[in-house]
Amino acid sequence: MPDDDRTVTAPQPAANRERPDPKAIDRKARLRIPSNLPPKQAPADRAHNWDEVYFLFDPEIAKVEATRCIQCPAAPCTKACPVHNDIPGAFWLLEHDDIAGAADVFRETSALPEMCGRLCPQERLCEGHCVVGKNAPPVAIGKLEVFVTEWQRTHAPPAPRCAERRSGRSVAIVGSGPAGIGAAQRLATAGHHVVMFEAWPLPGGLLRYGIPDFKQNKPAVDRVFAELAALGVEVRTDTRVGDTVPVEQLGAEYDAVFLAFGATEGSRLGIAHEDAPGAYGATEFLVRGNLEPHELPEAMSAPLPAFQSVVVIGGGDTSMDCVRTARRLGAPTVTLVYRRTEAEMQGRVEERRHAVEEGVQFEFLTAPLEVLLDEAGAVRGLRCRRMRLGEPDESGRARPEPIPDSEFDIPADALVVAIGYNVDQEWGEIAPAVHRDRWNRIVVNPETMHTNVRGVFAGGDDVNGADLVVTALADGQKAAAAIDAFLRDGIWSRFELL
Ligand SMILES: Cc1cc2nc3c(=O)[nH]c(=O)nc-3n(C[C@H](O)[C@H](O)[C@H](O)COP(=O)(O)OP(=O)(O)OC[C@H]3O[C@@H](n4cnc5c(N)ncnc54)[C@H](O)[C@@H]3O)c2cc1C
Repeated sequence: MPDDDRTVTAPQPAANRERPDPKAIDRKARLRIPSNLPPKQAPADRAHNWDEVYFLFDPEIAKVEATRCIQCPAAPCTKACPVHNDIPGAFWLLEHDDIAGAADVFRETSALPEMCGRLCPQERLCEGHCVVGKNAPPVAIGKLEVFVTEWQRTHAPPAPRCAERRSGRSVAIVGSGPAGIGAAQRLATAGHHVVMFEAWPLPGGLLRYGIPDFKQNKPAVDRVFAELAALGVEVRTDTRVGDTVPVEQLGAEYDAVFLAFGATEGSRLGIAHEDAPGAYGATEFLVRGNLEPHELPEAMSAPLPAFQSVVVIGGGDTSMDCVRTARRLGAPTVTLVYRRTEAEMQGRVEERRHAVEEGVQFEFLTAPLEVLLDEAGAVRGLRCRRMRLGEPDESGRARPEPIPDSEFDIPADALVVAIGYNVDQEWGEIAPAVHRDRWNRIVVNPETMHTNVRGVFAGGDDVNGADLVVTALADGQKAAAAIDAFLRDGIWSRFELL
């Protein structure tokens, strides 16, 4: 039983935050302010280091950029944000010199504002809906979010919001990526005992074992877990649920379970010699290229050799991370092979621009046919075929069709397959009672993230398929609110009906 039944809830957005009088905002004057971005590293420099592309905004310039926000009362940017950050509210405080206050606004609705500011595809979320962006560059929402939250960390670090009372309830979280982090932070703040189980040697999910340092550095991931530890969250790494810990044990020992194990099974090409020495899946290439041997499981701890020519196959953000990692590992020639044109690519335009600036070559309308091997059986190149675009397929994108007799070879000593991720098949055996769809994704009530099994919730990539940091975070935070309600007496019976 809980030792205290009072409702202890996670921080909520301040609904009564002082807002400007819309009539007092001179929108025309604001729309005339030129757009600003923070300075960035020159491509020739950054292709040889692992630091982030952008530096932080200068405070005065950040303030000017915040003043470009026309404070629309409808705030379409907030609606388009999966965690519904009060963006105009934050920028109103920033333009009035309250930088820490602006950071707090982001922290009210997001456990990972520094990371979302760096990693979200803002052009299709907040910035894509910014009204200023109709006739000019949108307000630089992501980069301002990074600025205010990092400024706050340096000048007025936020104190952990510990629960006033413990609830006496415990929650097991499987997976320590953004979904697990979002849930853990909210549940611990609400007074529940949280234990995270993580299969890798260190916590963070794809924030650590996927996304390279030049997009999001690892000390920031360590900082998140130091803050969770301060809230009392326990993290058990090197612990694979279904292997080291049977899933039944979680059901017996905890009052609720949140499944946040992601979608980390790399898709395969299905062509000859895909497993030859010198051919890598994207995750293996990225983690061996980005992490120190002691941060990796033994089977992956050998550093990658030096490459002369790397070919990466794929068209999304992961493939951009691979080509840019290959350049930083010193490969003079790096080629991306994609079977459609740039217009059909799904990743961020900015990432592609950065890759081109860093010297990556793109082979569009090109499909892989066969991995070519040398006498020792290792990769020596990729046989490809030229494609042309046909009618749209079920995804709505033009279907690539082969051009007859168009085969050609690209020499390479390394090949990286970055064509997408799926939910791991093994979860069907680890937790057979939990309903899944035909793509193996967990089926949940979208309002509560509750699965068909009472007390078992799920969210992030294991529900959505491979998606985004912010959508996983939003799921984790939403699930935490539902788990908190579930753990309070009187709510249990409602969920038994599921
Ligand atoms: C290379 C790469 C780059 C990306 N770049 C971006 C980007 O720029 N912006 C963006 O928004 N998104 C990006 N994404 C997507 C984003 O990282 C994911 O959508 C997000 O991390 C999903 O969060 P999650 O918590 O659901 O899962 P994950 O981050 O995958 O975390 C799941 C965790 O569960 C653990 N786990 C799995 N099975 C078990 C088990 N049986 N027992 C214990 N633990 C287990 C895993 O080891 C993993 O640590 C990228 C993805 C990749 C692969």
